[in-house]
Amino acid sequence: MSRPATFSPEETVKAAWQRSGGKSECARTTHGHVGRCNKTLSWGNRGRDSGWGSWEAHHRVSIQSGGSDSLSNCEILCWDCHSRTL
Ligand SMILES: [Zn+2]
Ligand SMILES: [Zn+2]
Repeated sequence: MSRPATFSPEETVKAAWQRSGGKSECARTTHGHVGRCNKTLSWGNRGRDSGWGSWEAHHRVSIQSGGSDSLSNCEILCWDCHSRTL
């Protein structure tokens, strides 16, 4: 069991956060939300598995699969959506 690498650097995560408008960017069709998830998130609750607005910065293409820490590879996901990608 290897935990996915945490997204860094912080500036990239902040830029992605601003792009997202503080809402989950997940657009997967298998999660039960229609279109974009759009759940409102709380900046201070990154990486928490409980609490209001918890979320994580997700690699669209995982590091193990050759993905990078670039802004275009960073996706802001609510915790529910993030945990379904693991
Ligand atoms: Zn989702
Ligand atoms: Zn979500």
